[in-house]
Amino acid sequence: MQEIKVTLSTALKQKPQDESQLGFGRIFTDHMFLMNYEKGKGWYDPRIVPYGDFSMDPASMVLHYGQAIFEGTKAYRRADGEIQLFRPQANMARMSSSAQRMCMPALDEEMALEGLKKLIEVEKDWVPHQAGTSLYIRPTMISLDVQLGVHASNTYLFYIILSPVGAYYKEGLKPVGIYVEDSYVRAVRGGVGFTKCAGNYAASILAGEVAATKGYAQVLWLDGVEQRYIEEVGAMNMMFAYGKKIVTPALNGSILPGITRNSVLTLATQLGYEVEEKKLAIDEVFADIKSGKCTEAFGTGTAAVISPVGELCWKDEKLTVGDGNIGPVAQKLYDTLTGIQTGKLADENNWIVKL
Ligand SMILES: *Cc1c(COP(=O)(O)O)cnc(C)c1O
Repeated sequence: MQEIKVTLSTALKQKPQDESQLGFGRIFTDHMFLMNYEKGKGWYDPRIVPYGDFSMDPASMVLHYGQAIFEGTKAYRRADGEIQLFRPQANMARMSSSAQRMCMPALDEEMALEGLKKLIEVEKDWVPHQAGTSLYIRPTMISLDVQLGVHASNTYLFYIILSPVGAYYKEGLKPVGIYVEDSYVRAVRGGVGFTKCAGNYAASILAGEVAATKGYAQVLWLDGVEQRYIEEVGAMNMMFAYGKKIVTPALNGSILPGITRNSVLTLATQLGYEVEEKKLAIDEVFADIKSGKCTEAFGTGTAAVISPVGELCWKDEKLTVGDGNIGPVAQKLYDTLTGIQTGKLADENNWIVKL
């Protein structure tokens, strides 16, 4: 493997004093990892350098045609002070899968993972200590060719930046209200819904703003053909508890294959819940919530881990899920998964990568 060159910053930033005020994605650490790609040459020049601006030609292809993909994962500080990652290989593999769909080069996953580990070693003092906090990791890949005209770029940049983030829930898991979007769609059959490409998020912002004006935290997307089948929420997959059974939309190419989703389904089975992946119609789920058959709804994703849904709004009908509070299934899955991520519980699935 190529050697990762490290250039340390000579002007370190002041680290945040109050970890309860971290928020999400506003503060970045002192260094970043970069590597370049050129067709015929592959990935080269892996390096850690001081965090700073990029200089780009205004005709850089990413700025026009949007070959841009990203990932999101976290480093956690254990009670004994050690630092660990949760399934980072899965993020690198998913980035390669996104890359293939966007006609970008597959990642050198091994080098990306080495770069990530080395970067976190350099930045270890930036991993916060308070319960619920973590160091958010954002790997990104963009196209660099300077030329107009829609085609695949020959050159790319892969980089990783880090951001200390606060506890998503400061006072226990708080249920959110979710707006079921019935005019805009997020993804279509044959499209790019399964990728973490930047354009997917640009296309989602308008619906998010409309939902926010109605008082809802997130949008729940329906399928792009019939607008009947539940897909997912902004950056979370959706799950519904029917007593001891957990039902979630099956992966169909338009849903993002969440690593939290996969982890939760694995843990749920190990904890004795029944798990079913299938096509889930919104009208049927609404009827099941009303009749009390469906007892809980929650989202799963790296940022919040588990986000209980207290209220759903679909075609102006508002529905409280269960009693509007977090239910026992969501709480159990949250405690188990965060317990493994922070080293409090045994990692029986070999998910943890220690630094
Ligand atoms: C990132 C993301 C998820 C969750 O994926 P995780 O790997 O669990 O973080 C779900 N849906 C969308 C649209 C996403 O972008």
